Amino acid sequence: MCKVKEMEMHFVKRCLLIAFLVSLACISVTAADDTGVTVEIDSDYRVTPESGVVHVTKQVAFINTDLNTRYRRGYYSSFNHYLPENAKNIKAYDTGRAITLRKAQEGYHVLQFNRKVWYGETYTFYIEYELDINRNTAAFYILEYGDNTEVTLEVPSGFDTHLARDGYEVEEKQYSSVYKFQKGMDWKRSCLVSTIRHTDYLVLNDVAHLQERDVRVQIRYWEGEEAWAQQMLDTALTSLPILEETWGMPYPASYDIIITQANITETGGYGGYNQGKKGISILYTSSNEILIHELAHYWTRACNFDQLWMDEGYADLYTYIVLNETDPEKAVERRDRFLQKYENMKEDHDFPLSDWDIPDSINSSTGEKVDFGYKKSFALAYELYEDIGIENMKSTNLQFAASGTPVSEEMFVDMISTSSGSDLTAIEAYIY
Ligand SMILES: [Zn+2]
Repeated sequence: MCKVKEMEMHFVKRCLLIAFLVSLACISVTAADDTGVTVEIDSDYRVTPESGVVHVTKQVAFINTDLNTRYRRGYYSSFNHYLPENAKNIKAYDTGRAITLRKAQEGYHVLQFNRKVWYGETYTFYIEYELDINRNTAAFYILEYGDNTEVTLEVPSGFDTHLARDGYEVEEKQYSSVYKFQKGMDWKRSCLVSTIRHTDYLVLNDVAHLQERDVRVQIRYWEGEEAWAQQMLDTALTSLPILEETWGMPYPASYDIIITQANITETGGYGGYNQGKKGISILYTSSNEILIHELAHYWTRACNFDQLWMDEGYADLYTYIVLNETDPEKAVERRDRFLQKYENMKEDHDFPLSDWDIPDSINSSTGEKVDFGYKKSFALAYELYEDIGIENMKSTNLQFAASGTPVSEEMFVDMISTSSGSDLTAIEAYIY
């Protein structure tokens, strides 16, 4: 079943490493010895669904330990801090008054201290902001820097919470669960927090009028997730006819389609999961691209593909093809991102696609290999599509479906080269 999973990676941008830049004012640096400053942060994330936000408070102790500033040769008076793009109600203040905060580029904010911080001095201040969440779901990052950082996360009881990293302790209180990361941990990577409160499933229904029959599409979702459900339903109704047309095959399954909203533990870390007759599970944070990918798996199954790269490469290729009709800009952006990622990862992660397999669940140690496999499979499928064109794709799709036996790599190459007349040497280089 793992062949039909799609993943959504949540790796931190490396650029966060530079989040910790401080600007040094009024100094002529003479010494070569650069020990820099010390920043201790105490961060508190409070999930408050009744207000529709996660409230974040950071207490920052900025300590000038920069030897270059000894003997009053310089001081610090500002601080660059990265805040998430969607942060709102941003405030900064020290014990006396507000701190001026200016938005710099790419999420960075410059805080102008209310006093000069000379060598050996500590300046303590606070940063607060909020992130929007839904009534029963939240997904956000714990973004931290600092030399000595303590993080507390408080989530109301009744929420099912998943943190994308280890190293915390949980304390169950009367009305909440408190997750605590002690001081001294490495925060070079942010940590995704996924938390949901299961309600009974609500249902949204409609009928897709497809080539051979009407297929009922049912979306099962939690209270408060109406917008998500509607988006999924619309995506399914729009995509299915395009999939039929571009695969050259009517909807191949014999059953109706059930799409169920799921949390990250239910999808094993993947963005979605097509379980055939039992339906598709989609992570509540997944976009419509993931749903198109999962819908495309009805057709990859019908094609009797024997190899993971065929299933996943075709599912992502057809995601591109569908998007290209419904949202061309997004299609091109996604295609280029995938191909670029393939190129970027190739040096460190390359392997022949015939060796590719993926684990039942994704974590940070297996994640990169899985991600590379998807990107390489897409690169293959896209090159094939460019090379032989959609009409040849359709006719070989029909041959795969009619083969009645698992389509091996050899069969795949044979069938395509025979029917399209193309030389597939370049494609084979991805496989072996
Ligand atoms: Zn897939």
